Amino acid sequence: MSVEELEKKKTIDLRKKYIGPSCKIFFSHDPIKIVQAKGQYMYDEKGQRYLDCINNVAHVGHCHPEVVKAGAEQMGFLNTNTRFLHDNLVLYAQRLQATLPDKLSVCYFVNSGSEANDLALRLAWHYTGNKDIITLENAYHGHVSSLIDISPYKFHQLSDAEQNQFVHVAPSPDVYRGKYRTDHPDAATAYADDVKDITDNVHKKGRKIAAFIAESLQSCGGQVIPPAGYFQQVAEHVHKAGGVFIADEVQVGFGRVGSHFWAFQLQGDDFVPDIVTMGKPIGNGHPMSCVVTTREVAEAFMSSGMEYFNTFGGNPVSCAIGLAVLDVIEKEDLQGNALHVGQYLTNLLEKQKEKHPLIGDIRGRGLFVGVELVKDREKLTPATAEAQEVIYKLKEQHILLSADGPHRNVLKFKPPLCFTTEDADLVVEKIDLILKELEEALG
Ligand code: PLP
Repeated sequence: MSVEELEKKKTIDLRKKYIGPSCKIFFSHDPIKIVQAKGQYMYDEKGQRYLDCINNVAHVGHCHPEVVKAGAEQMGFLNTNTRFLHDNLVLYAQRLQATLPDKLSVCYFVNSGSEANDLALRLAWHYTGNKDIITLENAYHGHVSSLIDISPYKFHQLSDAEQNQFVHVAPSPDVYRGKYRTDHPDAATAYADDVKDITDNVHKKGRKIAAFIAESLQSCGGQVIPPAGYFQQVAEHVHKAGGVFIADEVQVGFGRVGSHFWAFQLQGDDFVPDIVTMGKPIGNGHPMSCVVTTREVAEAFMSSGMEYFNTFGGNPVSCAIGLAVLDVIEKEDLQGNALHVGQYLTNLLEKQKEKHPLIGDIRGRGLFVGVELVKDREKLTPATAEAQEVIYKLKEQHILLSADGPHRNVLKFKPPLCFTTEDADLVVEKIDLILKELEEALG
């Protein structure tokens, strides 16, 4: 099935996705009704257990007892909005900062990845005074469109840059399917030069760059891992053009990549973004997110007379939960587990690649792994329908995985960090059998 056919089918299916007897709930997919979750498992109303390989918000495992306890205790003691200072806020900011390079020393608390990226862009516009944004092909950064514009009551007026920005899209640094299709060390320079071409063109038109924003590893875009050194080179071009570098760690931060706490650190020790955004896993399912930036960027934002207000960002319960998440990652060495199990999973999948022509590429860092299915390894013809079939058949066998990317042909692993080698064995064994069936059918 082509992507167009899939889209059409999805549109038709959407009509069925209003769920509930009287008050309807909108869903864009067929949800499993879950009643409980624990560790890497979710349970439906019949008590059926599902192995969760995709739920990247249950970072330390669903309903981790220490996280639940911290949230419940704090809820019975104090919760309030952002207008008050409280110990958890200070403690959390300190703990977070200890995981980041020294330069990133100012923390803003918000509630979702979208809000974090929205704020990051506003920081960039205020700091640089420039308008244009460079983003990457197939990137996903969230779902909000600015509401400040339509709110007559303003905590501050929007700057000109915030209202008249332009967006430029640079080629995705995808060494497998991207523009250059090579993992040669020069790929980083080739893709970074594309960004430079954009900054040069923008300059020629008399405009200026405010920011380059990228997911440190691209997730919705198909588990894309930029070549090492790419961010550093891009940052140099972007800084020269007057802009800042925003690393979106919403999906991939907090130890998921195993070797490092932050995915941008995979790019090399000398690379430090100007702004980092984070969300999803940091509250282990509880809404919490942050933007961390430099003192210079934050001061420019403040000096514009700006009062930043966000009702729930950094409330005592969120921070208590966030602190417990950080404790559990450390105590249970979940980053180490991500490295070990992620490598184990990748090795198992590499062996499958030798057996299955449908597997075109295996790529991963820690427990962020992608398996790209193709019908032809030379032409890279996407095996979209086959990837969807794998997902469907796994779901029938109570394993939750997703397929994404521009062609919806990349199987995506991003399980809770308590995922085990036994879990990896199980999923790969099932994928092996499903691919065998599919390949037999293809002839
Ligand atoms: N950034 C990335 C990389 C994401 O994957 C997402 C969500 O999937 C977001 C931002 C938006 O986060 P949220 O859905 O919490 O608003």
